[in-house]
Amino acid sequence: MQFAKPLFAAFALSGLVALPAHAELDVANLKQSIETSFESDYPHLDALYKDIHAHPEIAFQEEKTAAKLAAEMRALGFEVTEHIGKTGLVAIYKNGNGPTVMVRTELDALPMEEKTGLPYASRDKATWHGRESLVDHSCGHDIHMASWVGTAKTLVGMKDKWQGTLMFIAQPAEEEVAGAKAMIADGLFTRFPKPDAGFALHDGAFAYDNVSYRVGIGSSTVNGLFIKFRGRGGHGAMPQVTIDPVMMAARFVVDVQSVISREKDPTEFGLVSIGAIHAGSAGNIIPDEAVLIGTIRSFKSQVRDKMLVGIERTAKAVAAMADAPAPEINMDEGAKAVMNDPAVVGPAEKVLKAAFGNKFNATPPGTASEDYSEFVAAGVPSMFFNIGVYEPERVAAARNGSGPPLPGNHSPLFAPVPKPTIQTGVTAMTLAVLSAFDQRAKGQ
Ligand SMILES: [Zn+2]
Ligand SMILES: [Zn+2]
Repeated sequence: MQFAKPLFAAFALSGLVALPAHAELDVANLKQSIETSFESDYPHLDALYKDIHAHPEIAFQEEKTAAKLAAEMRALGFEVTEHIGKTGLVAIYKNGNGPTVMVRTELDALPMEEKTGLPYASRDKATWHGRESLVDHSCGHDIHMASWVGTAKTLVGMKDKWQGTLMFIAQPAEEEVAGAKAMIADGLFTRFPKPDAGFALHDGAFAYDNVSYRVGIGSSTVNGLFIKFRGRGGHGAMPQVTIDPVMMAARFVVDVQSVISREKDPTEFGLVSIGAIHAGSAGNIIPDEAVLIGTIRSFKSQVRDKMLVGIERTAKAVAAMADAPAPEINMDEGAKAVMNDPAVVGPAEKVLKAAFGNKFNATPPGTASEDYSEFVAAGVPSMFFNIGVYEPERVAAARNGSGPPLPGNHSPLFAPVPKPTIQTGVTAMTLAVLSAFDQRAKGQ
């Protein structure tokens, strides 16, 4: 937290004095140089993006992806350490005295089939939880990786404009909300410098020249939901001698939504979604158990606690109605909410507003979750922001109803437009990092 106080003081002060001792960043000029450098770097970034997209890897299996990024960063002059938190990597670039600024990308993709029909679509498979699955970068972490490498290249090319240390980290298993914890447990902040500020971005289904952000709560808290209803198996034609767990699962899926609509304060955010149901094998067999897997999201701990109580009560009541044994229930916390630090957001906000104008906007907190929150909880004052991926005209048509809805993250049809999306990522991230170096220089 050493960075937070001087940063904040400097930010507050710059509004009071008429002529700050340190010149303001010339954002228009910087943006121009970033774009020029991006234009010449893009053919390489495009090839890297499409290669990573076509060959995605899932949580904690990202060996080849991490090796590709390690090679890129070594070629730029970074000192790279691999296998931090299993498949993660840390790339350090020292450029004189100054703060350490961290930039994170994720490495992992999702166990699902890509249906975009793109020439570089993935057909790769992996073993996930004991089953073979197709794999798809449908959360866009490949966009993040290309933007991360592009940002590193741009910042190295502009090293006369900042002083300090770049700490670029590539994290495994974000989708399992396990990779950030694994890297921290493996000495991320003891074997390497503890960053004075940190940044991460995520793409989403909005226009590719837009950047959105928030101060304070940036993403939701996630709790997993695992319920096993135990019944008594038997013949489908003799239900009277069975206890049917499929019936319990079906009743629970419907009834649990009344916890959200009737028990939770409707002005507070909270949701439960059941994403998987596993039971049975044939039409004439009543199975002896049914497993439900879902996710619980909230912003505030009081809201979450109330939901957890209601969800557990509903599951137990459903089992009791069927005269079944008590179900097995697990609702462990996966990730905390990401909290954006005003001391980091303040300077970045000024610079990004100057660069993106009315295409840089504050939005309400996102309902997705993110284990970047682990780095924040470990004491890295941070800013997490979002970039869009689709043609502005297509976004406008989807919004006014004249075009089809846009596939979002985790859709098999999620298909960012690579060049302008990566350009927005590189431009916004480079400027955000420069704002942190600049603010620190003013504070000294
Ligand atoms: Zn995701
Ligand atoms: Zn993601």
